[in-house]
Formats: sequence, C-alpha cells, structure tokens
Amino acid sequence: QYAENTHGFVGADLESLTREGAMNALRRIRPDLDLEEDEIDAEVLETLEVTEGDFKEALKGIQPSAMREVFVEVPDVTWDDVGGLEDTKERLRENVQWPLDYPEVFDELDMQAAKGVLMYGPPGTGKTLLAKAVANEAQSNFISIKGPELLNKYVGESEKGVREVFEKARANAPTVIFFDEIDSIAGQRGRQQSDSGVGERVVSQLLTELDGLEELEDVVVIATTNRPDLIDKALLRPGRLDRHVHVPVPDEGARKKIFEVHTRDKPLADAVDLDWLAGETEGYVGADIEAVTREASMAASREFINSVDPEEMADTIGNVRISKEHFEHALEEVNPSVTPETREQYEEIEEQFDTAE
Ligand code: ADP
Repeated sequence: QYAENTHGFVGADLESLTREGAMNALRRIRPDLDLEEDEIDAEVLETLEVTEGDFKEALKGIQPSAMREVFVEVPDVTWDDVGGLEDTKERLRENVQWPLDYPEVFDELDMQAAKGVLMYGPPGTGKTLLAKAVANEAQSNFISIKGPELLNKYVGESEKGVREVFEKARANAPTVIFFDEIDSIAGQRGRQQSDSGVGERVVSQLLTELDGLEELEDVVVIATTNRPDLIDKALLRPGRLDRHVHVPVPDEGARKKIFEVHTRDKPLADAVDLDWLAGETEGYVGADIEAVTREASMAASREFINSVDPEEMADTIGNVRISKEHFEHALEEVNPSVTPETREQYEEIEEQFDTAE
C-alpha cells in the first residue's frame, strides 16, 4: 500500500518519509516532547509503534522528488537502445560508469575519476540518449537541466538554481547531472548576448560547484553542446569538464545500427532492407532516423486502417507490414538535418576545438 502511494519518490524521499512517520508516532505518544531538548527514555521507545496514521500524516508533508523543481529520475535507456557510436559508448563507460561502479580500482591505481564530461556534436545525434544510458547502466539517478531553462525558470536566481541542482545530486548520489545545451549559459564570458551578467554568474557558480565536488563523490556532470568552440575555457580545464567526447553524425554503418534499434519491434516486409535504408540516408542523424521510422509506421497504419473492414481487423492485424514503399514515402517526408554545408561547418568547429585542446 505504501509502495502504491509513493509514486515518484526516490530513495531519499522514502527515507525522509520513514523518519517523519516515526517522528509522528513519537509526537503522538509524547505531545509535550521537545525533540531538540528532551531525552527520550528507553521505555518510551519500547512502546513506540508507528501506525498507518503516522505514515499518512507524514505523506502529506513530503513531496516526491519528481514533483519538485529539480527532477530526479532513473532513466530506462540501455546501451542497446543506442545504435552505433561504439567509441563514444566506450569512452563514457570508462569515464563515467567505471568510477561509479569500481571506485576501489580508481583509488588503488591513483587515477583521477572524471567530474565532468563535455559531449559535443550536432543536435539529434544521441547525446541525451547516451547520457541516460550511462546513468542507467551505472545505476545512477539522473538530473536533467536544459541550459535555456535554467536561465528562464529561475529568473534572477539562476546561480541558486545551479546550487540546488548540485545539492539535490549529492543527496541522491550516485547521480549524473546532465546539462543540455550548456553553451547557452556558459558561452565565453564577456561574449554573452545579454549584458545582464547572468551567464557570467552562472558560470562562476558552476565552477565553484565543480571545484567543490570531491573526487569519487558519486556525482558526475555531463554537459552537451553543438558549439564546443563557444564554451568558456575555464570550464574545460583539468578537474572540471575535462573529458571531451565527440558524438559524430552517423556514417552508413552507424545508420544501419540506428535503424536496427528503431525497427526491432516492428513488422517489416521482406523487401525492406536496412542496408538500403542506411545507404539512402546520408546526413540523417539518429533523431531523423527515428522520424523516418515513425513516418513509415504511420503510412503502414494508414493503409491498413483504410483498407480493412473494422470487423475483420482483429483477424488480419497479424498481416500488417511496413513496406519498402512506406519507407520511400517517409524518406520524402523527412529531410536530413545535416546538409553538406552544415556538415562542413560542424567539422570546422570540431577540428578547431580538437586542435585547441
Ligand atoms: P541530442 O541530445 O544529441 O540532441 P537525442 O539523444 O535527444 O539527441 O536524440 C533524439 C532521439 O533521436 C532519441 O530519443 C532517439 O530516439 C533518436 N536517436 C538519436 N541518436 C540515436 C542513436 N545513436 N541510436 C538510436 N536512436 C537515436
């Protein structure tokens, strides 16, 4: 029953709830008790019984983390949900998952565990997916903050927002803190679009928090950007976001793997060949491939629903297939995010970033 009534609660919330329930029981039998001042004698503790009512009362006062401003979640994405990107996965495994899973190895070999990772690459290439996968595989909590949101949601007190995020992360450790689109808040200081200085203050706070993180404290920051060249260099120094992981536009082999992920539970006609799809999708990133598959499924459902007598649907549903034509239609509908020109721009930025390191 308690399990049913505590949807969205994380471990730390359940701990508070249990403590508060016990406190309520104490208050009930000794209303005059001053918990700060008075000693509680053993006799009282012996007779203490925490009732359902005590728990219910405690439930009123404790909000699940999921409903507070900083949202702590446990992602359900696994490595298998990420197509291709083998090198990227390996680097995240070594830099994020291993220190969380095997701190004793890092300790023994006197290795620096990463406090922060910067993932860079064009939008839709799977950075969020990767961060969730590594958090899940390391059995960590996950706090996701979008750069622009941080500025808007906490107007006037963005630094406080940053502080709260790290506090929450520590309280729920192990935690992966995910700062999406970090360039929007941590572009080079002095080059902010707004002149209110808010970006500067947020960056200072971020630096303070990163520097204050003890090694192996089980809190790791993963930040993403598609403009690594714009990130304040102070953030990228050793001991801060010092592991830099490139998430590239998928090549043909990677695109096939991404199609495999997105079609694995779908009924495909025999003529649908994933090698063909991978070959037809130059410039499509993971998010585009997901959209192609969704569009093709939609076309298949449209055709099926319009051609079948509703009475017979249950008997014929087993025959529904996504055909090559459905995919051809989808490829016309969904354009690649990366054009030859934008690809060149990204490559230039990335090369510049890599050589500047
Ligand atoms: P980014 O954070 O780089 O902008 P996301 O991780 O948010 O990209 O990707 C958006 C969606 O695109 C994902 O939820 C997923 O469905 C799909 N996707 C992107 N990259 C991949 C990939 N490598 N493998 C499988 N799906 C992917």
